[in-house]
Amino acid sequence: MPPADAFLPTYARFPVTFVRGEGTRLYDDAGHEYLDFLTGISVNSLGHCHPAVVAAIREQAGKLLHTGNLYFNEPGVALADRLVSSSLGGGVFFTNSGAEANEAALKLARKHRSGGDIVSVHGGFHGRTYGALSATPQESKQAPFAPLVPGFRAVEAAALPDTVDERTAAVIVETIQGESGVHPLPEGVLRATREACDAAGALLIFDEVQTGMGRTGSLWSYERLGVVPDVITSAKALGGGLPMGAMIASPRLRDVLAAGDHGSTFAGGPVVAAAALATLEIVDDEAFLNRVRDLGELLRARLSELPGVLAVRGTGLMVGADVSGDAPAMTRSALLDERLVINATGPRTLRFLPPLTVSEAEIDDALARLARIVG
Ligand code: PLP
Repeated sequence: MPPADAFLPTYARFPVTFVRGEGTRLYDDAGHEYLDFLTGISVNSLGHCHPAVVAAIREQAGKLLHTGNLYFNEPGVALADRLVSSSLGGGVFFTNSGAEANEAALKLARKHRSGGDIVSVHGGFHGRTYGALSATPQESKQAPFAPLVPGFRAVEAAALPDTVDERTAAVIVETIQGESGVHPLPEGVLRATREACDAAGALLIFDEVQTGMGRTGSLWSYERLGVVPDVITSAKALGGGLPMGAMIASPRLRDVLAAGDHGSTFAGGPVVAAAALATLEIVDDEAFLNRVRDLGELLRARLSELPGVLAVRGTGLMVGADVSGDAPAMTRSALLDERLVINATGPRTLRFLPPLTVSEAEIDDALARLARIVG
């Protein structure tokens, strides 16, 4: 491949060009085979080019590509029903990405309590658009783009319940912070925040962009916490590899956003909806999700046996490991020397987001490759 000078340098890309994928395998333009334990950062949850997803896309692509949201489309209607009935039971707004799903949630919260504050948590990540970025309290990401959207505050997770009052429009959190290195928020804090939101009339938004769609071994991560939010946002794995997001609101919030309040030209189009429906059909299944939990335990157990691995965290197949060495250098060596795709969320933390369809043999294979790097 020629040097890709036509791109703005917003990504520190590796010198690899992938041309094909199948299951847990990726292939580059020189014919090398890779084991993918990152899935485009939690996107290809059924592995690359799952036959059911590809078939759904092919079939829909031959029928109808786009109508816009002034009309209904069949896969979009079926997906809306399925998503809503498998989560909060209210209504859905489709988007094209995780940041956009969060933008929709923030707008809903601001309209629900006009002028209210949005509270987020240190270490959280919600996206790069202005609203989502304003809820992402990281100096390096926010500072160059000031001024941000007014009325956003960030606190430590433990302080959340005491921070919520009648001026709060919403609290937005990830139940497990992904970009900061797979850090779960304490369940007690989430429960107390739920109570504080109820008492103050504020909304609780769970950003399930990374944790949702079966990644943690339940369809939505909140299911295993016994804390039900008012709004969830989804994206990443939702579209089976195509760009797709959703903001799902509970029944009592169904009518907060009225016609004309929000919109998106492409969102919820027939092809992405067909791909999402095919994905959900497979993932929303108890036996499938049980397997995700078992494989997650196996991956964490194997990881913690490796010399050089100091701590292992995670739920289901969302796994982080603190290492004694240089994690970004390990990621590079994993890719270029061992042909194992993983990433580093910080100087000492590796993250593993394999396909939910990964096999035990592939976990063994990945760990053997990793052992040559972290040991
Ligand atoms: N929210 C969470 C928890 C994420 O992990 C991400 C992306 O990494 C986003 C939101 C933003 O999603 P997108 O990149 O699709 O805008």
